[in-house]
Amino acid sequence: MSQDLSLNTLPPALYVVAMPIGQWGDLAPRAIEVLSQVNLILAEDTRVSGQILKSVGVLTRMVSFNSHSEVGKAGKVVESLERGNSLALISDAGTPAISDPGGFVIRRVIECGYSVIPIPGPCALTAALSVSGFPAAPSHFFGFLPTKSSARDQELETALAYAGTLIFYEAPHRIVDLAKRLDLKAVGRSVLFARELTKTHEQLIRINAGQCESWFIDNPDRVRGEFVIVLGPSKTKKASYEFETDQLLAVLGRELSPSKAAALTSELTGIPKRTLYRQLTGKSEA
Ligand code: SAM
Repeated sequence: MSQDLSLNTLPPALYVVAMPIGQWGDLAPRAIEVLSQVNLILAEDTRVSGQILKSVGVLTRMVSFNSHSEVGKAGKVVESLERGNSLALISDAGTPAISDPGGFVIRRVIECGYSVIPIPGPCALTAALSVSGFPAAPSHFFGFLPTKSSARDQELETALAYAGTLIFYEAPHRIVDLAKRLDLKAVGRSVLFARELTKTHEQLIRINAGQCESWFIDNPDRVRGEFVIVLGPSKTKKASYEFETDQLLAVLGRELSPSKAAALTSELTGIPKRTLYRQLTGKSEA
């Protein structure tokens, strides 16, 4: 990072580039273009990324940039941008800074007034959520739960207090433990275990809390691989915005005509007027 690099064809910026989460063919053409053109690639593991980049002819110099070195190297990244260089940040799989290194340096680059440019692509979170069949909004991403038992329980309870869709990452050696906790605490929620997305043994397991641990115990091979866990919305709690909409509609409905109450609530919430009118009166508006 210390030398000035020549042949810069991109404006100086930190390009945050998504890498495949299994299937190499998911590396986007624009990602390849940017990775070929930047002066330097900051890679979580240069050996892991080196293989895939070599396969698509990217020969750009790489340096290691991981959770241990991120804080120490952030200043050098800024200095390199000051000298007019362009840099790409990549992680071993998926999108940097999503349960991966990158957040610290991204904040530092922003604070120093330089551009951070996303080159979007694979991300286990969005891949799993997109096929979950659960509402994407409101949803809450919790990443990895803590590893210590009491902190794990506490964070899971915090998560379950949200009525909307919940998304977690989990490592294979803790997946049964998480399954057990979901059985006990996520009562009434539907669960998707999105396993090995985009890979040969990809599996989407749609079950209910209460059945999770036994699904893994029935066949220990199922514990292998990478998992995203998506929980459907609570069937008993209401999301706070739903609650507010119900209240608003009821209060306005007491004072105004159903049509006027539905129109004002629609203006404030963005929910279609006809939906609110039907909710208030049980009929479609004439
Ligand atoms: N930055 C990555 C992303 O954009 O998804 C996530 C990195 S995080 C260190 C790794 C975790 O992501 C895994 O433990 C797993 O929970 C999830 N993950 C990554 N690849 C996956 C895949 N192919 N299938 C299912 N989950 C995956």
